[in-house]
Amino acid sequence: MSLTSLEQVDCSGKKVLLRVDFNVPLDKSTHAITDDTRMVKTLPTIELLLKRGAALILVSHLGRPEKKGDATLSLEKVATHLAKLLPNTKVHFSPEAVGHSVEKLAHDLKSGEILVLENIRFYKEETSKDEKERTEFAKKLCSLADIYVNDAFGAAHRAHASIYECAKILPSYAGLLLKKEIEVLEKLVTNPQRPFVAVIGGSKVSSKLAVLENLVLKADSILIGGAMAYTFLKSRLIEVGSSLVEKEYLSQAFQIIDKAAYNKHAMLLPEDHIVASEFSENAKIKTVKRAIPDGFMGMDIGPKTRDAYSRVIKNAKTVLWNGPMGVFEMKKFSQGTFAIAKAMSKVKGTTIVGGGDSIFALTQSGLEDKMTHISTGGGATLEYLEGKKLPGVEVLLRK
Ligand code: AMP
Repeated sequence: MSLTSLEQVDCSGKKVLLRVDFNVPLDKSTHAITDDTRMVKTLPTIELLLKRGAALILVSHLGRPEKKGDATLSLEKVATHLAKLLPNTKVHFSPEAVGHSVEKLAHDLKSGEILVLENIRFYKEETSKDEKERTEFAKKLCSLADIYVNDAFGAAHRAHASIYECAKILPSYAGLLLKKEIEVLEKLVTNPQRPFVAVIGGSKVSSKLAVLENLVLKADSILIGGAMAYTFLKSRLIEVGSSLVEKEYLSQAFQIIDKAAYNKHAMLLPEDHIVASEFSENAKIKTVKRAIPDGFMGMDIGPKTRDAYSRVIKNAKTVLWNGPMGVFEMKKFSQGTFAIAKAMSKVKGTTIVGGGDSIFALTQSGLEDKMTHISTGGGATLEYLEGKKLPGVEVLLRK
């Protein structure tokens, strides 16, 4: 089974309903777009379809709107930004995603033009648990177009109307970004070049438990950092002071370490830490060995761990990184995270980075061009690596 390539589609003079993931991060106070990576990564698909003579109707969600018409989550600003990214293309915006007004706009849309529909999650039918309701809604969306293309990898783990049902109604294809994401991840889980090293960090073991369960079977080495390291250390009865620990996950953390050892895969935990007397850059700070004294909390991996992890990474042929090694938003606790980015930039092999924080740190260090692939899907990437099927991808597979 494979994803049908967009290159084979005849879309001249046709209207294409293109599901994109323009769920971009917004500034908390001004609600302006802070990072347009997801939009930029979809441009090759958009440009290819336009070049082939299609008229594009773009569908996306933005955030998790509580109610219809939440102005801060309107896609209008995204449409305005898209027009800047495509200065030679006419980009229209429709304040409705279904109904008479959008039908008229779609009808009048010319080849080479784009119509961006309002935030699809303003409509409760999009995410409805009732399949009939989702199907009826998808039919209305599909009535605007002749072909459906999904390039929204970041939303492919959701069985929502514009992701799943639309693909069943119209002739449907995978966009270039979605196809590339799947190809990279598929290789990673089925046939990675070895040694394969996974670097996993972030705040919680709980959110990455399932992916770790799977990775301990596949990766030759797993390097653990971030606050989740303290739950793992604590599960081995190592003192962690007042570091963040998820007590209810201690036994599962313990079992994951065992599972790695049973499969003869290395699971490395920090051997030293940068600790602080409180969660602040202005607190008393020092470097300690593996056990953290009372009154201090782990904020970043220490220099020995940085070196040890960097050595393992540099010898790898495949590296997957998801999650920061410390509270990298504070400069004093950012060295561990940046050391990973630097070590990965020297790898002679495949390097894949996923997760908003890791990508942000990578961009800050100016090393993003040195990576093989930066994954746009947070939840979707993790679910794929957990071994789950993504509904938005399954529905596009051709036998
Ligand atoms: P996640 O969303 O689970 O990937 O976690 C990312 C967050 O983990 C970032 O905001 C980091 O500041 C935070 N983090 C990383 N290391 C630590 C730590 N040692 N203590 C507290 N928070 C941390």
